[in-house]
Amino acid sequence: MQEKLAALASEARQEMGRADSPEAVEALRVKYLGKKGLLAGVLGGMGKLPPDERRGLGEVANRVKAELEGLLAEAVARAEEAALQAELSGTAVDVTLPGRVLRPGRRHPVSRTMEEITQVFRRLGFEVAAGPEIELDFYNFEALNLPKDHPARDMQDTFYVDSRWLAAPPSGPVLLRTHTSPVQVRSMLSSRPPVRVICPGRVYRRDSDVTHTPMFHQVEGLLVDVDVSFAELKGTLDAFVKAFFGAATQVRLRPSFFPFTEPSAEVDITCTACGGKGCRICKQTGWLEVLGAGMVHPNVLTAGGVDASRYTGFAFGLGVERITMLRYGLDDLRSLFENDPRFLEQF
Ligand SMILES: [Zn+2]
Repeated sequence: MQEKLAALASEARQEMGRADSPEAVEALRVKYLGKKGLLAGVLGGMGKLPPDERRGLGEVANRVKAELEGLLAEAVARAEEAALQAELSGTAVDVTLPGRVLRPGRRHPVSRTMEEITQVFRRLGFEVAAGPEIELDFYNFEALNLPKDHPARDMQDTFYVDSRWLAAPPSGPVLLRTHTSPVQVRSMLSSRPPVRVICPGRVYRRDSDVTHTPMFHQVEGLLVDVDVSFAELKGTLDAFVKAFFGAATQVRLRPSFFPFTEPSAEVDITCTACGGKGCRICKQTGWLEVLGAGMVHPNVLTAGGVDASRYTGFAFGLGVERITMLRYGLDDLRSLFENDPRFLEQF
């Protein structure tokens, strides 16, 4: 009986070494270790042996059984690994499965609006300029004639950045830019007039409700040259709104205040929904406020290294999300940033 067990073990070793699929391994488990398997068959004869022989044989049988179980576990692992490799190398592809549909992506409505606004100004001769989103107080506030006690500098309105970890921390505060205007300052400092730049980009303010998100997009423009007048500002904005919103769109300027421009104006256009007759979108006024603009304050020109006695300039800025909402008739700004494909696929 001992020989029988030894022969059984050696045969099993060979067969399990060859098993190359989970199915083959399972077949061997049934063959050797199953209830009616070969091991059970051999041990079935034990009952007829005298008790002292039976004891020694039991030990051998347990050893053989443990070995077979070990071999089986190894064979299972090997077969699973082989099956995985086959799948990864593509040989196990089921060609009858339906294919995966590749759905083409599309641009986010905010990106599209920003790009279209930028395109219009490029055609008017403006160059695109970019700058850092983490900015120094100087470029974001000081150079833009924003006084130290201006509410925009308050912690409630601005995200300040801890700069102590920097190898060489700047002397002034570091913050997430609250507008793209610092790019205008950088453009003036890095070139000589004429300056004609458009600055599209992300900006950050501590604000969140149906018409505000902590991060939003702006497009600002700056033109500095000899004899730039308010009439040219109005002409440029008129050309923009007609190109962007349609040739019938009218522009209206209302006096306003910004620290960085003087005089300053809020710019309204005839309502894109009702054409100026009055509706829910324009709150029955017929007008929509779309941007802010003005003549660059002499202090800002000076901070930008421009001779304010020789040059003048105009600047304007608009919120990309607001324009996008007007364009597509959206009433909750936050829906633009929830990344819900059901929403985004509509554009
Ligand atoms: Zn209207």
